[in-house]
Amino acid sequence: MLEKFLLEIIEKLNKPSISEKADKLLEYMKYYKINQYIYPGAVSREVGLDIKDVYILLESIANEKLLERNYEIYCHKCEKYQGDICKTISEAREKVCAHCGYDIEDIDMILIYKVVNANE
Ligand SMILES: [Zn+2]
Repeated sequence: MLEKFLLEIIEKLNKPSISEKADKLLEYMKYYKINQYIYPGAVSREVGLDIKDVYILLESIANEKLLERNYEIYCHKCEKYQGDICKTISEAREKVCAHCGYDIEDIDMILIYKVVNANE
């Protein structure tokens, strides 16, 4: 992902807690390529940024059409990932857990982001 673009987004957000991590964010985010998934939890861990701030940043990038919102399913009943990723919440709601057969609910969906345009 283009560093210049990321920097512009970070500046536009003008949130000190995010700005102070700008260097680490640029370093970590620049390697993402088209069709890769960004896991907010991983960004939070690697960059040391609060998960809420990570979502604020990723939502801003998604609004610029560089990221697409996707949903990974993690069954809270048997605590297992399903291994597939849904494009919409309604698609995810139709699923049942491949391991225990439990009906997938909203709490089983983890919002992740797919890179659809690396702006480079
Ligand atoms: Zn399950």
